[in-house]
Amino acid sequence: MARPALEVADILRDLGSAWRDANAGHLGLGQLKVISAIESCRTAALGGHVARCENAACGYTTIAYNSCRNRHCPKCQGAAAREWMEARAEELLPVPYCEPACNFDPCCGVIGAQF
Ligand SMILES: [Zn+2]
Repeated sequence: MARPALEVADILRDLGSAWRDANAGHLGLGQLKVISAIESCRTAALGGHVARCENAACGYTTIAYNSCRNRHCPKCQGAAAREWMEARAEELLPVPYCEPACNFDPCCGVIGAQF
């Protein structure tokens, strides 16, 4: 799969520092960790390995950087999310779906719980 022209990690690497500074005090430690993980995902910051073709005549060499494996990272979890969505889509019946929504008055909660 070809790399998109612009990824979330690219935006965070370019603007993340300024955004963190502008929102200092509003971000929790968990959010900062996610941003940091996405920024460093598949970069030299997390290390990597060199893969080289065993055919001496070829000798093709490529560097593969390690993933952050953060569950919020679109690069790491994007494929898993797509596979999950496709599996759920196969479970759907071939009929149109609708989601009814209604609001109950809090005093009717006891009645609503019976259904
Ligand atoms: Zn990642």
